[in-house]
Amino acid sequence: MRLPELLTLPSAVALRERCLALFALWGVPDRGRRVRVEWSGRLTTSAGRADLRGLRVLLNPKLLSRVPDKIDETVVHEAAHLAAHLLHGDAIQPHGAEWSRLMRAAGLPPDVTHEYPVDGLRRRAWFYLHVCGGCGSRLLLRRVRRVRCGRCKPRTPVLLYRAPQTDEGLRALRAREPAGAAGVHRLR
Ligand SMILES: [Zn+2]
Ligand SMILES: [Zn+2]
Repeated sequence: MRLPELLTLPSAVALRERCLALFALWGVPDRGRRVRVEWSGRLTTSAGRADLRGLRVLLNPKLLSRVPDKIDETVVHEAAHLAAHLLHGDAIQPHGAEWSRLMRAAGLPPDVTHEYPVDGLRRRAWFYLHVCGGCGSRLLLRRVRRVRCGRCKPRTPVLLYRAPQTDEGLRALRAREPAGAAGVHRLR
């Protein structure tokens, strides 16, 4: 599936109005008026996210531009998270009875997972092999961490190797010699 050349998404201002109308329907207290809606390029495969502390609804423009008819449902889903939080506090389950009741009151089924097309949206996942440049101690992680070897001098560089999170990538990393390989970066 190709992305459309031009993304015509509803404005965050219009979607915020939708949230305010929902909040009125749900009897959300006045502080709900601080709600904001943002299109966020940082979301990958989730259609939206509710930022409870910041009172924000975040929406995924890459995903929702593929299924514009799902934008409203996503706004209602995330707005209901904010509303449930404002009405009932921290002690509720994210998709529990309180949230479900708000969804039904808005005329939608309280569905939790979406089946929107996400191919090509997932960020590439990597393994990172950390190797001490002094003694060759190894550490394999799913993210980059600044590691310092316990055995060697504090300034001994840790070498970093990266491969895709696949069986093949794992084999390639396991076969890697600690020094002299191409594509090595140094951690300070
Ligand atoms: Zn949810
Ligand atoms: Zn070492």
